[in-house]
Amino acid sequence: MFPNVLEVARQLIRERVEKGENVIDATMGNGNDTLFLAQLVGEQGTVIAYDIQPQAIAKTKERLEQQGASQQVELNQCSHEKIADLQLKAGAIMFNLGYLPGADKEITTTAPSTLRAIEAGLELLRKGGIMTIMIYWGHSAGAVEKDAVESFCQSLDQRRFLVLKYQYLNQQNQAPFLLAIERRAE
Ligand code: SAM
Repeated sequence: MFPNVLEVARQLIRERVEKGENVIDATMGNGNDTLFLAQLVGEQGTVIAYDIQPQAIAKTKERLEQQGASQQVELNQCSHEKIADLQLKAGAIMFNLGYLPGADKEITTTAPSTLRAIEAGLELLRKGGIMTIMIYWGHSAGAVEKDAVESFCQSLDQRRFLVLKYQYLNQQNQAPFLLAIERRAE
């Protein structure tokens, strides 16, 4: 079987990120990607993670502590638009759009803030660094957000960024898909 979209995102990141790097989880949720990133960069690396919901912070904190991976992670309860305030270079930035599984499905990522965060994040990527955007669009704001993110990514200058789309074409029910953006030049 082909690897699922999330596994492809992780594989693309594994191939590019070194231990000790800075990485960002823009949508921490239940902390699965935060933990993945923390284990990847190791104790010398730094993970900066964002979510607007307190239960996401609590779940992620618990997951990291259970796995002994909490010391290099900064958990921020605020919108990922705050990425614009960071002054660092990042090897990878993960977005996982949609709602928090097991919580209120009306609290979702939305096009305006997602676009601002993506735009700010791309400026932080080091050359050869990668941004992955998992698009779960089976929710009320999902179609608008999907279209906005795709059209923004299509407009990126190909001399600076390469954009990949990984999607199953014959899946029903607004199946999630992946956009991955690699920074080619400053
Ligand atoms: N990556 C997560 C995991 O491993 O469990 C799943 C993320 S979930 C699909 C999307 C998350 O984005 C939700 O937890 C939601 O609260 C969060 N979110 C919504 N708007 C946000 C914003 N403006 N900034 C940061 N996070 C936001």
